[in-house]
Amino acid sequence: MSQITTKVNNVPAPPGFEGPGFFATSLDSVIGMARKNSLWPLPFATSCCGIEFMASMASHYDFARFGSERVSFSPRQADVLMVMGTIAKKMAPVVRQVYEQMAEPKWVMAVGACASSGGIFDTYSVLQGIDEIIPVDVYVPGCPPRPEQIIDGFMRIQDLAASESLGRRQTTDYKNLLERYNFTEK
Ligand code: SF4
Repeated sequence: MSQITTKVNNVPAPPGFEGPGFFATSLDSVIGMARKNSLWPLPFATSCCGIEFMASMASHYDFARFGSERVSFSPRQADVLMVMGTIAKKMAPVVRQVYEQMAEPKWVMAVGACASSGGIFDTYSVLQGIDEIIPVDVYVPGCPPRPEQIIDGFMRIQDLAASESLGRRQTTDYKNLLERYNFTEK
């Protein structure tokens, strides 16, 4: 009979200074740590890659380990837009609208070959990668990617969230990036 372990791994504290009775670190690091471990995904799944995501959420791979068990089907409470599957050009305005409705800070994952580059569908009706319409932070290769790859991509988003400075979304670089995609500030 297998043994049940009760060991709990706590999230490590960010780098800082500690002594008897105190610990000091930067606000950026604390907020980065909190964001990194509570990223809520919005799965925008149109085809087979979405099934791999379902496998990633199930008990064997257990996305909940990353503080991401709360899958958001409302853009307003989501942090990471995960686009999984073939995106037809007719669907492009919908993906843009969902992205636009998400609050900052937000991140985007292109999961699988179709979302990243159109995949095998090099045809007039299919978008050749979602980065034609929205900025992408992490690309996950594969057709389909295995759940391990999706989790690895998600961990790269966690790295970005943990290391992002609080002022990044107000920088000229970031505003220029949004402008390149014709997103205007509200
Ligand atoms: S990348 Fe492959 S598995 Fe994923 S949606 Fe496209 S065809 Fe399906």
